[in-house]
Amino acid sequence: MSKAKKKACIQSDCVACGCCMKICPVKAISIPHGIIAIVDSQKCIGCGKCRAACPAGVIELMEREAVVA
Ligand code: SF4
Ligand code: SF4
Repeated sequence: MSKAKKKACIQSDCVACGCCMKICPVKAISIPHGIIAIVDSQKCIGCGKCRAACPAGVIELMEREAVVA
């Protein structure tokens, strides 16, 4: 399990272009059925590369404490 303090969260207006999936160094992102990208929060290290690469600007980095009980 990742010890990163942040994790990527993808909003529903993702256009499934795949840029984030290609750039993620730990392969935490997948696009099931080509519909919307999702992040495996167990793998995400919070590096922010996906956010920088997203042409639609729909990726946020969230504090883990705020999203994981
Ligand atoms: S923040 Fe980094 S590790 Fe997490 S999904 Fe994005 S590119 Fe992958
Ligand atoms: S880069 Fe952005 S728009 Fe493209 S698949 Fe990832 S989250 Fe969706």
